[in-house]
Amino acid sequence: MEVRAKKALGQHFLTDQSIARAIVDALRNDPQAPRDVLEIGPGMGVLTQYLIKRDDIDPMMVEIDTESVEYLLTHFAGMQGKLIEGDYLRLNISKFFTDKYRIIGNFPYNISSQIFFKILEDKDKVPEVVCMIQKEVADRIAEGPGTKTYGILSVLLQAWYNIEYVLTVGPGAFAPPPKVKSAVIRLVRNERTELACDEKLFKTVVKMAFNQRRKTLRNALKQMTPEGMDTSDPVFDLRAERLSVDDFVALTRRFEQL
Ligand code: SAH
Repeated sequence: MEVRAKKALGQHFLTDQSIARAIVDALRNDPQAPRDVLEIGPGMGVLTQYLIKRDDIDPMMVEIDTESVEYLLTHFAGMQGKLIEGDYLRLNISKFFTDKYRIIGNFPYNISSQIFFKILEDKDKVPEVVCMIQKEVADRIAEGPGTKTYGILSVLLQAWYNIEYVLTVGPGAFAPPPKVKSAVIRLVRNERTELACDEKLFKTVVKMAFNQRRKTLRNALKQMTPEGMDTSDPVFDLRAERLSVDDFVALTRRFEQL
């Protein structure tokens, strides 16, 4: 019996074996990289089958769908203790990984942004992520400043990760086919160990700036700008989409020094 695809869980099963292999191969074979790898949403195990063959990694899986979990337990040997049945977004990851681990998965598209925010919470323990997501989201994440799709996730992820576009995947590679194109990207943790500003304030500034992305920063950030603060600097004439990560850091510092 195959798993019946459930829309609410973002289930589109990849059926193209050569793409599945390419995704697993995109996870670098590097002796420096952690052996622990977490697969998010294994489904019927199209990636899992190649992951468990690699002798440079120790895979773990987290799957929310009971039917998929049963499928994996009956079709793959040695799953016990490696397969967590649960919601990745609610998982207390540190319970499973005391040390660094990598992440791989064909993410459920409806929660891919939430997955990235959760990965960011644990960024110092996650040096590498290989994932398939909706192509539009992949483009957004990988874009630099000055483009229409550059946004909150681009800035927050690019602050900590170098993002590489791996490949585009058409709807025909899945059952059932999604309505949109997909893309595989690889995120590799950069050298940054800390931001040169308060991290929480940085996130607030970035979110607020993009929430009203049509407005100049002067107007978009008005709510958090204290009375009397000098906003005559030309940076405040710009829109959020013009600013690089470092520009946002510099901008955040202006609000810190109050
Ligand atoms: N990796 C499989 C399935 C991809 S579909 C393949 O490529 O064919 C996305 C998978 O994520 C589904 O199996 C779905 O049940 C699972 N999933 C959805 N939400 C989840 C969550 N919050 N936590 C863990 N798994 C989730």
